[in-house]
Amino acid sequence: MDLIKNQDYEIVIEDMGNDGEGIGHIGGMTVFVKDTVMGDVAFIKIIKLKKNIAYGRLVKLITPSKYRVEPVCKIARQCGGCTMQHVSYEKQLDYKWNKVKNCLARIGKVEHPEERMEPVLGMEHPYHYRNKSQFPTGRDKDGNVVIGFYAGRTHSIIDTKQCVISAEINDRLTAVIRKFLTDYHISTYDEQSGEGLVRHILTRVGFATGEIMVCLVINGTGLCHAQRLVDALTEIEGMTSVCLNINQEKTNRILGDQCVTLWGRDFITDYIGDIKYQISPLSFFQVNPVQTKVLYDKVLEYADLKGDEVVWDMYCGIGTISLFLARNARQVFGVEAVPQAIEDAKKNAELNHITNAEFYTGKAEEVVPAVYRSGGAGSAADVVVVDPPRKGCDAVLLDTLVQMQPQRIVYVSCDPATLARDVAILQENGYTLRKAAVVDQFCHSGHVETVVLLSQRKPDDVIEVEIELGEMDLTSAESKATYAEIKDYVLKEHGLKVSNLYISQVKRKCGIEVGENYNLPKSEDSRQPQCPEEKEKAIKDALDHFGMI
Ligand code: SAH
Repeated sequence: MDLIKNQDYEIVIEDMGNDGEGIGHIGGMTVFVKDTVMGDVAFIKIIKLKKNIAYGRLVKLITPSKYRVEPVCKIARQCGGCTMQHVSYEKQLDYKWNKVKNCLARIGKVEHPEERMEPVLGMEHPYHYRNKSQFPTGRDKDGNVVIGFYAGRTHSIIDTKQCVISAEINDRLTAVIRKFLTDYHISTYDEQSGEGLVRHILTRVGFATGEIMVCLVINGTGLCHAQRLVDALTEIEGMTSVCLNINQEKTNRILGDQCVTLWGRDFITDYIGDIKYQISPLSFFQVNPVQTKVLYDKVLEYADLKGDEVVWDMYCGIGTISLFLARNARQVFGVEAVPQAIEDAKKNAELNHITNAEFYTGKAEEVVPAVYRSGGAGSAADVVVVDPPRKGCDAVLLDTLVQMQPQRIVYVSCDPATLARDVAILQENGYTLRKAAVVDQFCHSGHVETVVLLSQRKPDDVIEVEIELGEMDLTSAESKATYAEIKDYVLKEHGLKVSNLYISQVKRKCGIEVGENYNLPKSEDSRQPQCPEEKEKAIKDALDHFGMI
């Protein structure tokens, strides 16, 4: 059956797509329908046709799915923000968990990922969780000020007097600003003409501190009657910073580079756990502080730090994870491409009196190979955390990680597909996926945050049989010293840090069996580094000490 545009069809929604939209089939075509839920039977109108897929708009529900709920927000369907408020929260979580499972199985080639996945970590109260909001500001056709959100896939602003996912105080903040702009006839920005002053309202709230920042993004250099606005805003408890951000470009970018403080400090502070962070209008900071704590606790758990490790935090942003881990590690190195973020990271380290965190500015795929080749401090990592943007890790970085041979890699990801792609690469190179947790950071949207633990396919995985043999006919010492024990010994006795790779190279040289394929160079001309003489001597001493040679 050929589908026809603008015609109505009946459809059964069988699945849910990447943004939480419903998916069904009509006559062999896959049809994506926003605002529907798995289990819905509905009339839809075909609005767009491609070769094998089509897009439909919900016209009328025939039988609603059992997973359907009434959205708490009255404008949820028009607003482009929450794409899944009409789906029960339980089902949202189930959908996110399954999305990760399917990606790990299909793309990651992980067998039975569900056996390694923890139950999804959702929010007890999945509303008013966002600490940062950016409201586009304009006028409706009658000239009334509108402050709200863009309608899905458009730039028309829906006036939003209440938002159920932003910090609760936002309703009051936007009301004050709406009144100020109206009373003092302040112009609002028009995207078409590039005229008008106020473009966006940015608010940030420290959930632990109660501190509030209000920042008006303006297409100009000053705001008339600014004192009146400050007077009204400072009546609100917790007001800490009132500022302007200057953006005079005709662009979709929300923020310009320059900020002017009108009143109070030029930043607010907040905590994740007991680490304090300074947040300025331009800083990147996780938007759901409650779940960020849950996520970082998971990272800490998976990193399993004992206090003596060298940890790398790749794609570190303002160093949030680096600082969270620093107290449990010997040394943390963070790498981040954006220089301002690194400045914030250094400032935050100072603020928390953390002295064992060092930060590099640059692309992880350039900085890390260079540090590794130099062989200096940090070239042997025990634990690596990566938290890349949606496109996942750069191939050069993954290659370097494989050479650095950290014991554990903790991968934080906001895109399960690229996560799974990178997991497959790491699994081909000596690592095994041990655990995975889905943390719901973006309730009511289709976005999924995942953290997984990969660790080296330990000799123990392969040696188990040998240990049993050992119990029968090897001298007790032969099989007993683990890589960790050898590392400890070398560090204590020789003051040297050695990697698993080096230990396995020396073991092999000494004729000690190393798990099959374990740390073997992939090819003769492989770029795997060779253990330096001094470290080889130290490792041999350890092997001797443990009676293995
Ligand atoms: N780990 C941080 C931030 C994660 S967001 C936190 O939890 O807050 C991903 C970060 O990667 C962004 O700060 C972005 O600027 C940075 N980034 C993007 N590409 C990069 C690259 N090639 N090398 C290093 N950092 C990069």
